[in-house]
Amino acid sequence: MKAAVVGGGIAGVFTAYFLREAGIDVVGFGGELRYPLTSLVLTLSMPDPRDVEMAVESLEIYRKMAAIKPVISVDIMPTYADLSSLRRAGVKYQVLDRFRGLRLARDEIVVVTTDYLIPIRKIVASLRRRLGFSDKRAALGAEGRRVYLVVDGGRVDADVVILAAGADNRELALRVGVDLPFRPYSCYAAAFLVPGWLRGLSIGDYVLSWYGRPGPWPLYIAGDGCGKAYSNPPRGYASKIARLIAKRAGWALPLYAKSGVCEGSPTGGPLAGKVGRFDNLYVIGGLDGYGSMVGPAVAKRLAELVVRGRTEVLPDLPDAFDFDPCVERHDWSFSLRQS
Ligand SMILES: Cc1cc2nc3c(=O)[nH]c(=O)nc-3n(C[C@H](O)[C@H](O)[C@H](O)COP(=O)(O)OP(=O)(O)OC[C@H]3O[C@@H](n4cnc5c(N)ncnc54)[C@H](O)[C@@H]3O)c2cc1C
Repeated sequence: MKAAVVGGGIAGVFTAYFLREAGIDVVGFGGELRYPLTSLVLTLSMPDPRDVEMAVESLEIYRKMAAIKPVISVDIMPTYADLSSLRRAGVKYQVLDRFRGLRLARDEIVVVTTDYLIPIRKIVASLRRRLGFSDKRAALGAEGRRVYLVVDGGRVDADVVILAAGADNRELALRVGVDLPFRPYSCYAAAFLVPGWLRGLSIGDYVLSWYGRPGPWPLYIAGDGCGKAYSNPPRGYASKIARLIAKRAGWALPLYAKSGVCEGSPTGGPLAGKVGRFDNLYVIGGLDGYGSMVGPAVAKRLAELVVRGRTEVLPDLPDAFDFDPCVERHDWSFSLRQS
């Protein structure tokens, strides 16, 4: 069997990796990760037990590939936050009413767990090399119930085509008349100088709405929520986040802001599966802002589906949908809004 994968990010290379492990001949197309910084955060502190399970699985996969650095994770939440998902998933955590220099109100708690910094650029680049990915871009073409790729004006046929092009999934599939249940949105982040004690922490502040994590020394990277697809951070974005950090830590010096593109789905989480209209097209996407946390586990399940024709864990791709791509299931704000 021959599989062709479109997309050289986390979703694409890990799907190609698991297909190759299953003995399938794989060709991969697509450039490197779009997200520029060296390490992404993997947290086990998430409200949805399915996500925690996929993050644990992904962490095990990474551990076989690279050195993974643990960091202290501090989530700031209102006292009424329901942490039962963490208990159920067996995640070790501590609830405290004070933490180092953090300024907390009376009705706030901190939930302390361990996060992990994943050197994702390094891991993805090494897998791309091992799997022989090319930098070339691919387009989709269709003939009857089968799709093929067009690369450099030439046709590439495969028994299975995997679409793993992140925020470009939808546009690529529209060319063959399929509207996939994915929508792009912009994730903004900015770089700061912050007090030394804060620099080593991964923070999720679900009261003031910002997150932060260690960046390349001496930077601290922080941001909030999401924006309109392909838009730049609004003027004053870094200063706005700096004010939020300062409310917790005393001061933060904003340096610069950047925008990246993420992709949401109607479930607020990852989706992967067969595209019903075609016999040989599969897609993986909707990794939202947590592709490095759950991406390898989702890719493994998709590879299982391709090889065995079934998987226990992936929901079917929905046919009808209307959704806000900014709603992220892995985010505590999502569950707090509902309580
Ligand atoms: C600011 C920011 C902070 C983030 N922080 C975290 C974090 O801490 N932890 C975490 O887990 N996640 C984080 N994320 C999210 C994470 O980066 C994404 O979820 C993840 O990169 C998505 O992976 P992907 O493979 O689906 O898509 P992408 O990484 O976008 O990869 C898609 C690939 O497809 C290629 N492609 C597109 N079109 C074509 C084509 N026509 N032909 C060939 N190739 C094509 C692209 O070049 C790219 O290589 C963050 C994102 C941003 C922007």
